[in-house]
Amino acid sequence: VAAAAALALSGCSSRDGGSGTSTASGFAKDASIGVALPTKTSENWVLAGGLFENGLKEAGFKGDVQYAGGSGVSDQQSQIQSMITNGAKVVIIGAVDGGQLAAQAKAAHDAGATVIAYDRLILNTNDVDYYVAYDNEKVGELQGQALLDGMKAKFPDKKTYNIELFSGSPDDANSKVFFDGAMKVLQPKIDDGTLKVVSGETDIKQTATQGWLPANAQTRMDTLLAKSYGSAELDGVLSPNDTLARAIITSVKGAGKPVPIVTGQDSEAESVKSIMAGEQYSTINKDTRNLVKQAIDMVKDLQQGKKPATNDDKSYNNGKKVVPAYLLKPVIVTKANAAEAYANDPTLEPLTK
Ligand code: BGC
Repeated sequence: VAAAAALALSGCSSRDGGSGTSTASGFAKDASIGVALPTKTSENWVLAGGLFENGLKEAGFKGDVQYAGGSGVSDQQSQIQSMITNGAKVVIIGAVDGGQLAAQAKAAHDAGATVIAYDRLILNTNDVDYYVAYDNEKVGELQGQALLDGMKAKFPDKKTYNIELFSGSPDDANSKVFFDGAMKVLQPKIDDGTLKVVSGETDIKQTATQGWLPANAQTRMDTLLAKSYGSAELDGVLSPNDTLARAIITSVKGAGKPVPIVTGQDSEAESVKSIMAGEQYSTINKDTRNLVKQAIDMVKDLQQGKKPATNDDKSYNNGKKVVPAYLLKPVIVTKANAAEAYANDPTLEPLTK
């Protein structure tokens, strides 16, 4: 606590003495803006870093963009502390572990900085001001629906389907929201017997993928196949994102089984290719360009002393407060609509040809 207070104080003095002098409303046009991103567990995080660098520079700010390294949580905590010490007026945070940043969020507030949770919510603190993300519950619902639709189309003669469920990392607040969204669609079909989770593993603790690491999903899929699919056919797998979807497909192929319907998220290039090749069934388009732009728009408003726009002030209770959010709309993508979905994306559009 003492260290945090000392850091907060030094943040104050550098702010008052430096070029980013704070005014009652807003702050200097060339102020420093911290962006703390997690480890690069998916392509979207890699893209976000470059987009923040360029976007903040273009808007006249000094962007300080950092990724958490191998030590994850502690790396990110110290990166945020130094952003504050260096006088950042806003810290934009894609949390490694949303439950372990309360002290850093408080230090930011003590230094007069605004805290924006980016993509992943920051939990159990009053010191987070805004949340900007794609609608995570909707992502889950779209994944659940895609799993059903895909299996119906692929197996027109089946009335019941064997599936397995995967969820994301337990330290990412999004993981439960994705899973709950998907289960909103899938649970009634499990209850009425249309879907059978052959392994019996339906609890989020059983389905979790620590660290969003593909190796963990691949190992779990290997185990599930060995345990429950000696004779049974696997028709579909709920995968929370593309990295894990490809790991699951690798596992199934390695076991010499036909590729089931597998969902995803993030529109990673490798997964878009897989979808076009008829392997992975679906992904979600959460265009990172739009999410970064939304976060930078918030910074521009704050710079001018304006309250940033939000469009959902009730969904994201972080355990201490309901965090005002700006949610963007995710889009489901399958082979059928890929060309249309990526029409304005110069990287992905050519892959749909
Ligand atoms: C993001 C997903 C991403 C996952 C792993 C989540 O918080 O919302 O887009 O696939 O983290 O990086």
